[in-house]
Amino acid sequence: MKNISRIESRDVILSVVIPMFNESQVLPTLLARLTKVLDSVPESAEIVFIDDGSNDGTWELLQALPPSSSRHHCIKLSRNFGKEAALTAGLEQACGLAVIILDSDLQDPPELIPKMIARWRDGFDVVNMKRRSRLGETWFKRFSAAAFYKIINNMADSPVPENVGDFRLMSRQVVDSVNALPERNRFMKGILSWPGFSQVTINFDRDPRLAGNTKWNYSKLVGLAIDGITAFSIKPLRLASWAGMMTAFAAFIYGIWVLIKTVFWGESVAGYPSMMIVQVALAGIQLLAIGIIGEYLGRVFIEVKGRPLYIIEESRLKSSRAVDVPKYHAVSGSK
Ligand code: UDP
Ligand code: MG
Repeated sequence: MKNISRIESRDVILSVVIPMFNESQVLPTLLARLTKVLDSVPESAEIVFIDDGSNDGTWELLQALPPSSSRHHCIKLSRNFGKEAALTAGLEQACGLAVIILDSDLQDPPELIPKMIARWRDGFDVVNMKRRSRLGETWFKRFSAAAFYKIINNMADSPVPENVGDFRLMSRQVVDSVNALPERNRFMKGILSWPGFSQVTINFDRDPRLAGNTKWNYSKLVGLAIDGITAFSIKPLRLASWAGMMTAFAAFIYGIWVLIKTVFWGESVAGYPSMMIVQVALAGIQLLAIGIIGEYLGRVFIEVKGRPLYIIEESRLKSSRAVDVPKYHAVSGSK
């Protein structure tokens, strides 16, 4: 079980979870736009900010936020644990009946929140926000993203909806199911889709980042793709077995051919190029297969260690009634 108790509040209907890593430049605009939206909806709301080890004054800025009608729950992680861990922390701390995940850079427009709530009120458990356009992204990023969704949906048993990021609304039941997943590998797009439940999709245009820089680069994205595939499918292992079997079969046929040829027509040596090709090809396939096994073994190693996903250094609650929960230290993420 979790060894940190969520600060429960019966009067929070909507939680907006926002992971932040060095986002002091966007925070004022984010808060202005979000507060305006939350003030316009009848549901009482809380904003759960997770400061993922920022070093640009994001935490200090969070402390200085002016009081607003929404409750602010500010959580400071002890270092940068990555967006996936920050989101896990936020989902575990959120106590609303509906939970929305929002990027802090305003790429996901908060103005769409009333639409999302309306669909939830219609009875849907998950409101997926699908990107119609990916403004400010290169064609290569769009192409590699499309390829990634094709691969993962071919391999994984639970579908990962295409072009749906972390921006989505989930009902309490879905969030509780997600929180119950014990794994350390937090490939969020897969984890958030895994519970299923009734889903609806809203298309939207994703804006470019308001300010600052993306925290992702291509090597991180490739790592994320490998995490995603290995966390949701063991098909690559089967592929390695198939490649092994096919190669062995081909080698067997070729061996018989070489034998027959030698017996009937003799062999005048030579054959260096074909030997080299076979050797290099086999070495390549073997290394690839060992690499795939290694990827899984590494993940088993990480899971077995069972370390917490994140450490909360400080947690503060600020509501319009000026309740401030004193600083406490807690380790969470271990179930
Ligand atoms: N983020 C985070 N921890 C990290 C990296 C990113 O909490 O280690 C947050 C970041 O502050 C932002 C969100 O995750 O709110 C998305 O990050 P970013 O905009 O850099 O990603 P992109 O939109 O380019 O995929
Ligand atoms: Mg972004």
